[in-house]
Amino acid sequence: MTRIARAVAAIHESPTLAVDRRARELAQRGVPVISFGAGEPDFPTPPHVVAAALAACQDPRDHHYSAAVGLRELRQAIARKTERDSGLAVDAEQVLVTNGSKQAVAHAMTTLLDPGDEVLIPSPYWVTYPETVRLAGGIPVAVAGDPAHGHRVDPERLTRALTPRTRVLLLNSPVNPTGTAYTEDELRALGAFALAHDLWVVCDEIYEHLVYPPGRFHSLPALVPELQAHSLVLNGVAKSYAMTGWRVGWLIAPPAAARATANLQSHVCGNVANVSQRAAVAALNGPMEPLLAMRAAFDRRRHRLVEGLRSIPGIDCPEPDAAFYVFPSVSGVLGRTVGGRPVKTALELAEALLEAAQVAVVPGEAFGCPEHLRLAFALADQDLEEGVERIRTALT
Ligand code: GLU
Repeated sequence: MTRIARAVAAIHESPTLAVDRRARELAQRGVPVISFGAGEPDFPTPPHVVAAALAACQDPRDHHYSAAVGLRELRQAIARKTERDSGLAVDAEQVLVTNGSKQAVAHAMTTLLDPGDEVLIPSPYWVTYPETVRLAGGIPVAVAGDPAHGHRVDPERLTRALTPRTRVLLLNSPVNPTGTAYTEDELRALGAFALAHDLWVVCDEIYEHLVYPPGRFHSLPALVPELQAHSLVLNGVAKSYAMTGWRVGWLIAPPAAARATANLQSHVCGNVANVSQRAAVAALNGPMEPLLAMRAAFDRRRHRLVEGLRSIPGIDCPEPDAAFYVFPSVSGVLGRTVGGRPVKTALELAEALLEAAQVAVVPGEAFGCPEHLRLAFALADQDLEEGVERIRTALT
């Protein structure tokens, strides 16, 4: 009998991408949908980056296979950038260039896990983490953060979830979906926990440049150098340089793990598109001004969105430290009728908002945290204002 393998049959479309797809489909049909769905900057990629890609298109050397681990220039640029931005000295040989940081997440799990190994995942979490753990044969163990404290986890919460099978702590800071940025002291405590229990730490740092001043980004292995031999650092150009569509991420690992991930990639996909890699070199070696301008715009929208949502009865919206997401509690709204239908869950609320208000949001269930919604504020100011007004009208 032909059938789909159980591990793949058990996964569903990424909920963030599903919301994005539905919003696009509605927009194509002429519905004036406003999407707070997938988190991607609405800005175009900076012109000097596009120019580098155009030059690469014209260069026959970029028309062919290149090293599966990534172009030498890009691996060097990533190593330099990691020292510059995180204070973490790494060798270019430790860098693997991946097809977006999503592939780096999947490679990390495939490389580190044996069947039945457990991964501690602070919750709420990005939708893709548990799926990649399961696909690698591991068991995701969600560890609920403290809702009164930005949904942060601490060593105490993590310790309660430890078992003899725990192998990895997956730490995403700044966090998608809450926008929480762990402080230096909090990270040191988490690092000490990982060291004490001999765990791998997979640090997803994709939102590093989107911490709003006066807050600052900190990289765990830079703060706790003893952890460097136990850490995989994941990152990419997507969010910092408005390059989500170019698909360039990376993974930095200790030498033996780096070689293992490189072997894996050589069979899974080979090199990332050379044109995209050349664009990433230009982004990483180029000026930081476009990034800072983008962050300032996100900061402005952050305040507007938080203020707008807080003025709607039933929505409790903390201000995020970083990234372009708010993650309000909507428990005060559940039980009401929205757009003529009763809504008991965030999932139903998101459906109702899409139908009644043509506003796309991602329900908290997708992130392992019901009674919440995630709204990405990477959309034009005018759309943001209009979207909030539509939500207000639908809920009152
Ligand atoms: N990371 C973004 C988000 O959470 C992009 C969509 C995705 O790949 O999940 O919205």
